Amino acid sequence: AKAEGRNRYRFFEAEMTVAARARMALELSLRPALAREEFELHYQPRVDLRSMAVVGMEALIRWRHPQQGMVPPQQFIGIAEETGLIVPIGRWVLREACRQTRRLIDEFGRPIRVSVNVSARQLAQPAFAAEVREALADTGLAPSALELELTESALIEDLERTAAMLGELQALGVKLAVDDFGTGYSGLAYLRRLPIDVLKLDRSFVLQDDGRISAFDFVKAFVDMAHALQLSVVAEGVETVEVLDFLRAASCDEAQGYLLGRPLPLAGLRSLLGG
Ligand code: C2E
Ligand code: CA
Ligand code: CA
Ligand code: CA
Repeated sequence: AKAEGRNRYRFFEAEMTVAARARMALELSLRPALAREEFELHYQPRVDLRSMAVVGMEALIRWRHPQQGMVPPQQFIGIAEETGLIVPIGRWVLREACRQTRRLIDEFGRPIRVSVNVSARQLAQPAFAAEVREALADTGLAPSALELELTESALIEDLERTAAMLGELQALGVKLAVDDFGTGYSGLAYLRRLPIDVLKLDRSFVLQDDGRISAFDFVKAFVDMAHALQLSVVAEGVETVEVLDFLRAASCDEAQGYLLGRPLPLAGLRSLLGG
């Protein structure tokens, strides 16, 4: 049994080395990826639940790795955050999303909103609000067309500093959303202190671990409360008609999910908006 334990230990050690090496390789190729223009944005449509029209989209980064092909964000955003590379990458995402959305609005002649994911590291940069202002000014995108998605943990990390930064962003006229709402346990008190406009309900808010839909009265009461606080509610990860009907009945405002549209390259979203 002792030998077995030692073997197991060796096995884990080898595994860790492999994982650490893969991570290091990814980190090394992440560094020049921006300059080599290996990133692109895909867009997932966001639908108004009353009109069922596409009213916006979420920008989601994709990495076209020269050897590994498409690397999903879950595999590199964490590394980008730890190394600080998320700051220049996030800056690129913001500008690219503003630029492409401005062009879509011009093409289709109607308002389209874009949501951009912002990491804690970006929000902690004192110059972040100035960068947002410049991205809007340089691309000519109306501030009201831009929404920034922030996670609960990024918001409550340093509430004092976050409140000041969100105040600056609000003054620009951009919308502020809490992403993955319902996955943290931070309560609601922070919402009163921050100028938040939108709550994005995580999939797990509506779907339980066993796959069953949450109690209707619970979700409905939550949406009503959010509305009373002047917050609009967007449901994420809608995959079935059953969930869609449930959310409409609960007077949820907007939704996103594979049922309504997968993240698509810009060309795909263009044909979705046109058709
Ligand atoms: P997120 O912000 O919560 O984005 C939603 C994720 O759920 C996306 O995964 C999307 O493709 C996926 N999704 C959409 N509809 C459905 C559905 O019906 N069912 C299920 N199961 N999933 C659905 P994706 O694109 O792989 O992105 C994963 C995460 O990576 C994002 O989660 C976000 O946290 C991060 N991320 C993506 N792009 C960026 C970025 O530009 N900057 C930063 N900081 N993070 C990003
Ligand atoms: Ca998001
Ligand atoms: Ca989310
Ligand atoms: Ca998420």
